[in-house]
Amino acid sequence: MKRFAQAAQAIAETPSKLDKTGILGAYLRTLPEDDLACAARFFTGNPFAARDQRALALGGRTIVAAAQHMWGFTDADLSATYREHGDLGSALAPFVRPPQTLGLFVEPLTPATLKCRLDEIAAAAGKSAGKKRQLLCESILGACRSADEAKYVVKIMTGDLRIGLREGLVIDGIASAFDAAPGDVRRANMAAGDLGTVAVAAKHGTLSAIRVAYGAPIGFMLASPILFGSEYKELREGRWMVEDKYDGIRAQVHKDGERVRIFSRTLNDVAYSYPEVVRAVGTLEGSCILDGELVAQREGRVLPFRYLQARLQRKDVSEDLLAEVPVAFACFDILAYGDEFLLDEPLLERRARLAEILPSSSQLQLAPWSALEPDGSAEELHAAFEAARARGQEGLMLKRTDSPYLPGKRGKCWLKLKRELSTLDVVVVAVEWGHGKRAKVLSDYTFAVRDRHGKLQTIGKAYSGLTDAEIARLTPWFLEHRLPEHTQRQKARRHEIPVEPNVVLEVAFDIIQQSDLHESGFALRFPRIVRIRDDKPPSEVDTIERVRDIYRRMVDREGGA
Ligand code: AMP
Repeated sequence: MKRFAQAAQAIAETPSKLDKTGILGAYLRTLPEDDLACAARFFTGNPFAARDQRALALGGRTIVAAAQHMWGFTDADLSATYREHGDLGSALAPFVRPPQTLGLFVEPLTPATLKCRLDEIAAAAGKSAGKKRQLLCESILGACRSADEAKYVVKIMTGDLRIGLREGLVIDGIASAFDAAPGDVRRANMAAGDLGTVAVAAKHGTLSAIRVAYGAPIGFMLASPILFGSEYKELREGRWMVEDKYDGIRAQVHKDGERVRIFSRTLNDVAYSYPEVVRAVGTLEGSCILDGELVAQREGRVLPFRYLQARLQRKDVSEDLLAEVPVAFACFDILAYGDEFLLDEPLLERRARLAEILPSSSQLQLAPWSALEPDGSAEELHAAFEAARARGQEGLMLKRTDSPYLPGKRGKCWLKLKRELSTLDVVVVAVEWGHGKRAKVLSDYTFAVRDRHGKLQTIGKAYSGLTDAEIARLTPWFLEHRLPEHTQRQKARRHEIPVEPNVVLEVAFDIIQQSDLHESGFALRFPRIVRIRDDKPPSEVDTIERVRDIYRRMVDREGGA
């Protein structure tokens, strides 16, 4: 891993994309097959193949415990370096003690041997495996011969190299290493779902032999939000279609001959929970990969998301539950048919193909869509939005008709139009240091509303919405107005720093849920800070009574169905 670390460090140090791919290509070219496959995957920040459903799930705490055991340093030492670097790999690097100095004689790590040990960690799952995972982690850290090597090994374990290398650049690096066309590498990667396999095929000049790998989930294409009632500048260019935004579970269905798999957004196969959908998909001709949303529906009416929750992760679905919460797959895209990959086809073409193969049944439905008139007004869009809401949907999706399917991308070709449920004025009661580029500022805020007696009760936590300048302005104020950590709750959350309740924020959110996570008994879903309310004293923040009202209205609107 010494040479991996050197290449990664050189890539981190150059801002030029061309230089990054050049350095990567030169390194990959020198590797034997087994190291090549692993190194290519590691450079994407994922220790395993993208299609691999395993997760390393190695928490920072286990890595820190293993590192402390090997190299002996205190929590305070680590806090200081973490604050400086903002990522665990770099924060641990200064404490590394190479194996020779520890009196250990261990083989140096290579990408392939590291992968074997990570396989063992992933296999040691379950509650009782904590100690074993820590020991395995110690054996990896103990084999690191330099600070840089350990830094990048930890970054691989935490799943983010932070060297400015996205998957696209790794693809370019593989292309440059083996004189292949980047487009061929990209296509092969979509098919194989594993850059490791692709790198080896590129080395052997056999990229075109890679076929659609049914059973290997493809990253989901995602949508960027647009603000309801804004100027809709995003829609001015190109042609767009409008579709309902379903409040269900995103799913990718792979039908390969007889076999049906349903992948969730975490890329796990959840087919066992939806036997009626599996049966309906099973009636389709041939093999295909479909994208869509699992929704709870009874007698043609969409049921609120909480109904679907009863079906999540159920291994045994009783006949009663099947009747009570029937699930359908609303299908809005097709990614492959037989041996043919359709990702690069324009959306309109993909939708036409979908319409050809999908016989509508109650468990398998073609998601309806309509064309957005290029000179249509905001009123028309809002009317479509209200109609979707009246059908029980969350809002609208807008999709550019000429766009390819971009796996794993949240771009501007798909837009989601949602309307915020409401906003609340809240006061910040505790703060936390951020991560990454926000490691040196207090950017994560826990906030509260008032109860009947004026006592503050927490209701949520927000990380987004303020500008860097606003956060920089608030940080020293929070530091000067820290409170002693006195309550049980604050002790339990060790990263939270309680502060004087003085900074009032307006936060927007999509949904209110009942929850015992916070003192108020409620939690906000997707909270975003809209602005700092310097004009409002903390004594006037919103009350739990108002929260309850919004919650009641939300439940009523869902029809209590
Ligand atoms: P969000 O979860 O708010 O980021 O919204 C993105 C999610 O919207 C996707 O992951 C899907 O689960 C969901 N979604 C609902 N309807 C659609 C649709 N018609 N097209 C694409 N995604 C949809």
